[in-house]
Amino acid sequence: MSKTIFEKIIDRELPSNIFYEDDLCIAIEDIAPKAPIHVLIIPKKPIQKLSEAKKTDQALLGHLMMVVKKVAEELNVQDAFNIIINNGEKAGQTVFHLHIHLLAGRNFTDLFPG
Ligand code: AMP
Repeated sequence: MSKTIFEKIIDRELPSNIFYEDDLCIAIEDIAPKAPIHVLIIPKKPIQKLSEAKKTDQALLGHLMMVVKKVAEELNVQDAFNIIINNGEKAGQTVFHLHIHLLAGRNFTDLFPG
């Protein structure tokens, strides 16, 4: 199967602005930011989407959340950020390699009006 855009970034075949990397994941700046801060946290394992994650991916999924926390702290937005995972084409997913959007610096409080 051909590589996803994110695998090419992980393998340094495409350029990107990398905020964080470890053995399991990478955090990069989104090329078309939807907020002043828009980072993508991407597992190196190419899981196509969250709904295809396996029980054996549980620790990896938890790790991604801890990386969200770490990146938010490093960017000093730990008090106000949103995370989004688009799962499936109808939900707006365009890159079929699981990723978490971390968005900050913009008011998203009207997304879910009470
Ligand atoms: P999604 O629509 O949830 O699949 O999100 C895919 C995201 O990847 C979008 O926000 C795109 O702007 C972003 N994106 C696509 N290509 C690149 C790239 N080469 N570098 C960084 N972000 C990208």
